[in-house]
Amino acid sequence: MALDYEVLIIGAGLSGLYQLHRVRELGLSAQVIEAGNDVGGTWYWNRYPGARFDSESWSYGYSFSPEILQEWEWSEHFSPQPDNLRYCQFVADRLDLRRDIRFGQRVKTARWDEAARGWTITLQDGSPLSARFLITAMGALSVPTLPRIEGVETFSGQAMHTAHWPHEPVSFEGKRVGVVGTGATGVQTIQEVAKTAAHLTVFQRTANWCAPLLNARITEDEQRDIKARYGEIYERCRQSPGGFIHVPDPRSALEVSAEEREAFWEQRYGEPGFGIWMGNFKDVLTHREANALMSDFMARKIRSRVKDPKVAERLIPRNHGFGTRRLPLETRYYEVYNQPNVRLVDLRETPITRITSQGVCTAAEPSESRSGQGQAAVGAYGSQDGARHEQVHELDMLIFATGFDALRGAYDALAIEGEGGCKLKEQWSPGARTLFGMLNPGFPNLFMVMGPMGTLGNIPRSIEYNVEWVSDLLRYARDHGHTRVQASAQSVDDWMAHVQQCSVGLLSNEVDSWMTGVNTNVEGRSQRVLARYSGSLQQFRERAGAFAAGGYAGLQMS
Ligand SMILES: Cc1cc2nc3c(=O)[nH]c(=O)nc-3n(C[C@H](O)[C@H](O)[C@H](O)COP(=O)(O)OP(=O)(O)OC[C@H]3O[C@@H](n4cnc5c(N)ncnc54)[C@H](O)[C@@H]3O)c2cc1C
Repeated sequence: MALDYEVLIIGAGLSGLYQLHRVRELGLSAQVIEAGNDVGGTWYWNRYPGARFDSESWSYGYSFSPEILQEWEWSEHFSPQPDNLRYCQFVADRLDLRRDIRFGQRVKTARWDEAARGWTITLQDGSPLSARFLITAMGALSVPTLPRIEGVETFSGQAMHTAHWPHEPVSFEGKRVGVVGTGATGVQTIQEVAKTAAHLTVFQRTANWCAPLLNARITEDEQRDIKARYGEIYERCRQSPGGFIHVPDPRSALEVSAEEREAFWEQRYGEPGFGIWMGNFKDVLTHREANALMSDFMARKIRSRVKDPKVAERLIPRNHGFGTRRLPLETRYYEVYNQPNVRLVDLRETPITRITSQGVCTAAEPSESRSGQGQAAVGAYGSQDGARHEQVHELDMLIFATGFDALRGAYDALAIEGEGGCKLKEQWSPGARTLFGMLNPGFPNLFMVMGPMGTLGNIPRSIEYNVEWVSDLLRYARDHGHTRVQASAQSVDDWMAHVQQCSVGLLSNEVDSWMTGVNTNVEGRSQRVLARYSGSLQQFRERAGAFAAGGYAGLQMS
């Protein structure tokens, strides 16, 4: 059977775009299939108000092209979604990538054909395409999930998931809006919606530690400076464990005096970005006492910013320490709860019972435990159903900021069949196992960019390394006349032992989150598992680099 292409790539986000560019440089024929109607991936789909980077913009962009670095100008230190999408479009046009991308088509199945030594994929319109190599660039956060709540589909107002946001402008003026979810996306959404909504009800299941983003526009002087220093900036990212410009402080939180510790944390709290998370004392995320002290510092900050003490206490996380879940960055988020038009509903006290055409029903709050916050709103919108002891939060608009089936969701959504009909979803049923997040035994010629058990961090830094690693492997196979490449079981065992070892001692292991594979909105994701690689990007590059330099001894090639 003649194959249609040498390479098929699924996804036209940052990973897929760069992968296409590199495959073309190798002189291989390629086609990208993308479910969305344009490039950009995350930045195409997540159009909710307030969506923006938590990475410094100038550390997020691709670093591979000096020309693109000089031609593109970020306007803000933490760039908003419309600019991020424009950036992806700019790169796609600059490298003339669109002519090899098929938009508006979701890949439904992928099957290995041993006789043809290639992959056949089926698109949503039923048409098949085949290629020698299949590269998945489907994103670690690309499959949105809705909460499993009775009646979720019955709401008669406008309901939206933040990752499936309408392309037309959405106005909140004069509307009673509900937001479900207070993770990184929820926080960005809430602080924006609160500016114009007539009333905002925030449904919070898990309070998160949030730190100031401190975004600002990039001045002309800064622009010049950034452009002159790109080499230095990316070198700093290379030297940091997570690929950010932030590096941990080499001191223990416990070896300095209480005054010094407090002064250091005040300084970090007053600086932009993830410095307070990635650039904290070295043991804040591993040592219980250090973490408790840091959590106490953050709790005091929340208390100082939220006027109503009862509301402040609800916003302070009780079930996890600082930094053990993905840290949302905020801009006057806590002050939102001082506004008379905003009400916080703590779902741990009063869980959602169902969603109706009119809004969200929760268990009724005992009147004595109600804070003063939003009392008027309760009076206006609330009603009590004596039989069910429910409180109805009547809404015109309901926003689900309920996140993603993270890390492996896109793989589970696609029926991938390898050697002898083995199914990837079944192989991963006890937990995903891969080599570097890029290869799997039993799935020859399938390369994953940013697959499970690979690196994350400041993601474009990982994407560039992953794409280049895959491209080097393609070159090696081509130069050696190999048409079949697959990981040995031993190489995966070795990598997974390292993944396991890197996770030892992290306080985040003791917390339910997508980083430990827990998502109660998805069937079968209620147990904590080893869900991700938590070693540093340097450790990753060392291992993956040595593996390649050693002639790919852990791969079977023919
Ligand atoms: C709101 C939000 C904010 C973020 N902020 C940051 C940040 O500040 N810093 C950072 O480092 N990272 C951030 N991220 C992570 C972000 O996902 C990465 O930075 C990066 O954009 C990932 O690029 P990607 O190409 O790997 O995946 P994606 O951008 O997710 O692209 C994957 C593409 O594959 C397509 N696809 C998937 N399955 C199929 C299929 N079966 N058929 C066809 N097409 C398919 C999807 O439609 C999507 O377009 C953020 C993520 C979100 C959701």
